Amino acid sequence: MNNNNEKLRKLPQIDKLASAPEFTGLNSVLLKKAARNVLENIRCDIIDKDTEVPDLQIIIQEVKSEYHKLTRGTLHKVINATGVPIHTNLGRSPIDKSVLEEAIEISSGYSNLEYDVANGKRGDRYHHTAQYLCELTGAEDAIVVNNNASAVFIILNTLARNKEVAVSRGELVEIGGSFRVPDVMSRSGAKLVEVGSTNKTRISDYAGSVSSKTAMFMKVHKSNYEIVGFSEETSLDEIAREAKHQGVISYYDAGSGLFRKIIPESVCGDQTIPEVISKGIDIVSFSGDKMLGGCQAGIIAGKKDLIKKIKKNPLMRMLRVDKLTLAVLQGTFRKYLERNDNELPVNRMLTEPPESLFKRAEKLVSMLSCKTTIIKIKSTVGGGSCPLAEQDSYGIIVHSGKRSSAVDKCLRNAATPVVARIIDDKVVLDIRTIDEQEYTIVCEAVEGAV
Ligand SMILES: *Cc1c(COP(=O)(O)O)cnc(C)c1O
Repeated sequence: MNNNNEKLRKLPQIDKLASAPEFTGLNSVLLKKAARNVLENIRCDIIDKDTEVPDLQIIIQEVKSEYHKLTRGTLHKVINATGVPIHTNLGRSPIDKSVLEEAIEISSGYSNLEYDVANGKRGDRYHHTAQYLCELTGAEDAIVVNNNASAVFIILNTLARNKEVAVSRGELVEIGGSFRVPDVMSRSGAKLVEVGSTNKTRISDYAGSVSSKTAMFMKVHKSNYEIVGFSEETSLDEIAREAKHQGVISYYDAGSGLFRKIIPESVCGDQTIPEVISKGIDIVSFSGDKMLGGCQAGIIAGKKDLIKKIKKNPLMRMLRVDKLTLAVLQGTFRKYLERNDNELPVNRMLTEPPESLFKRAEKLVSMLSCKTTIIKIKSTVGGGSCPLAEQDSYGIIVHSGKRSSAVDKCLRNAATPVVARIIDDKVVLDIRTIDEQEYTIVCEAVEGAV
């Protein structure tokens, strides 16, 4: 214990440590906090594990790295080297920079979010983006909520509370762990009526389930799995037609929204939202990011009278979106209207041809000083969109004397973390999701890791 006290006395004072020349120009409040955290850890180690007092230079390095952690916050940039453009854990779809510039203009000052400028009266935030959405989808009306999960919830709560909703057994999916169709449905107050079997559901199954309490036929995009082999799914036009015949609502939770085909039909057979609407589906919901390439939001499009009912639901106030979301969506939708949507980061990544990917891989390799090999690989789409879709891509194998898991860990712990793939026990950087502007950052991380 005496020994420990002696060691503890040797630790530098916070103020003195913070005044070291290595720290000039840093924010003094955060620097002191960083110094306090580091000294506290050292103190605990001395008391608990009887460790030695580290050299002053080592303490200074630790304070620097702690300072860096504090200033960048817990939410920060990472490099996506997985090749999965819609990466659920890495923020799903990146937002286009020019779209964000417009959002900055709108949201860093005042806007007409809820103000009718022409008449000098209170306005309605829900009508923003509706005009573009109707144009892009062919729907009569549209509205935006917080995310697609809340879109599903408010649609069921408004249109099917205390009533029955028929859903195919093969579509009672769980998406991302916390979104399960049956659970969302029971919370919304709608009663689930399962129809068909896991692998086969026919339109006669929906028709046979109808009672005086039936409000809706709901179809759900399977998003993260596919039933292959002996299976049969009911088409959207059959559901729309039969719903009309029975006098109930037809609803499709499309999950990911497409305004046009981005990748070939042979790779991803998902129907576009205009196709869904043209098939006579009364109401459809989809995410604002995923394949659409905007930001987190739930978009509801369909019949005017149904959208009107949803707008009147008091839950709308809880699920409503902020001006930032509306501004980003407006800018994203305009890209589609102008047919400049190939500029959106997700669309660019999903459609980059193999030749171009190869050229970019070569360029990155030329900037790296360690040993590398370029290989042909397949990248997936991600984000619960087109579960089976795979596209040709190129990967850069990073060779080193270290174990692949150790290199991978170093990459993840770089100043800007790089999230790579491990293929056959080798660290691979999939070029598809690495932007040219990120090459220098990638090089720094790789050089540090090997
Ligand atoms: C992704 C998805 C959701 C949830 O959408 P969020 O935008 O993540 O809230 C709901 N339904 C389906 C079919 C999905 O694919």
